[in-house]
Amino acid sequence: MIVKIKCPKCETEGSLSFVESSYQGLYRCWKCRENFTIKIENNKLKSCEPISQEEFEKQQEIEAMRAKFKKG
Ligand SMILES: [Zn+2]
Repeated sequence: MIVKIKCPKCETEGSLSFVESSYQGLYRCWKCRENFTIKIENNKLKSCEPISQEEFEKQQEIEAMRAKFKKG
């Protein structure tokens, strides 16, 4: 499943593929490199909030940790 995400800053459209129909996490615009947290529900983009680089890195660490736990 691929969801298209339009960057609120530069309006460039990017796409992300997901295994599940809902997702909450990070998105980085490939063009302007702005960082966002996004929320997807039922294959639709519900929110897209800009976050700072610092916050982005923090969130990335949390996601990496979650991934480790999943692998077990
Ligand atoms: Zn952008």
